Amino acid sequence: MDLKRFASQPGHAAAQQPTHGTTPPPLPTPPMRFPETEGQPASGVAPQFHEGQVTVSSPKSESGKRLYPVSQDPKPAAIVVHCSDPRFQGAFEEFLEQELHLPKGGYIPIVVGGGAGVLGHPEQLPKEFKFLKERLEHYRQIFPTAHRIILINHEGCRYYQNLKSRALAMIGSRLHLPLDLGRDDLGLVAESFRHFLSHLGYSVELYYAKFSNPEHTHIEIEKVSA
Ligand SMILES: [Zn+2]
Repeated sequence: MDLKRFASQPGHAAAQQPTHGTTPPPLPTPPMRFPETEGQPASGVAPQFHEGQVTVSSPKSESGKRLYPVSQDPKPAAIVVHCSDPRFQGAFEEFLEQELHLPKGGYIPIVVGGGAGVLGHPEQLPKEFKFLKERLEHYRQIFPTAHRIILINHEGCRYYQNLKSRALAMIGSRLHLPLDLGRDDLGLVAESFRHFLSHLGYSVELYYAKFSNPEHTHIEIEKVSA
C-alpha cells in the first residue's frame, strides 16, 4: 500500500496546493506530503473540509476502511504525563498547543489515572512508580529529542485521591487529606525526580490545572515551581 496516497488531512492549508510528483489517478484529491508536526503549532489553521460537504471524500483502503495519515519522522520535544479524567482532556490538549507550543505529534503523551502524582510516592505506590519510571527510561532511549518532561496534576482528581488514601491506609496513617492533593504533591514529584530519575536528564516542568469558577465550567493551568 502506498502511504503517499493518503490524501486529505483536514486542518492543513497545504492541501490547497498539489505537491509535485506522481499522481495516482484513482484518487479524487491530489496527493500531499505530510509535514512534520514538530515545532509547528497548528493554531489558526482552519479546517478546510467539513462534514456535510460532499465534494471531498476521505481516502479509503481497498476494503473500504477509512484511512488515517501517519506522522512522518516525528521528533517529539517533550513527554507529557497527565490524568485520564475526561473533563480535562480538551483543556490539556489546548494548553499544550496554545501555551507550550506542543501540537499533537510534537510530544509523547502518557495519559494515566492519577497523572504524575504517583511519582511523588515511590515507597507507598511502588507499582505505579515503576510503571511510569520504566516508560520514562524507555522513551529516553527511543526518543532522544524529547528533553522536557511536563507533568500536569489537576484539581479534583478522584483516581489520585483513591490511590493516596490507599497508600496512607497501608502505612497506617490517619492524616486528614487536604483538598488540593494534586497540587501539594507536585513538590514531592519534583523531589522524587531529583532522587530517582535525574540520570535521565529531563528538564522537569510542573503544572497544576484547577477549576476557575465554582460552576466548574472552565479550567486554568498554572506553572508550579519545583
Ligand atoms: Zn485525575
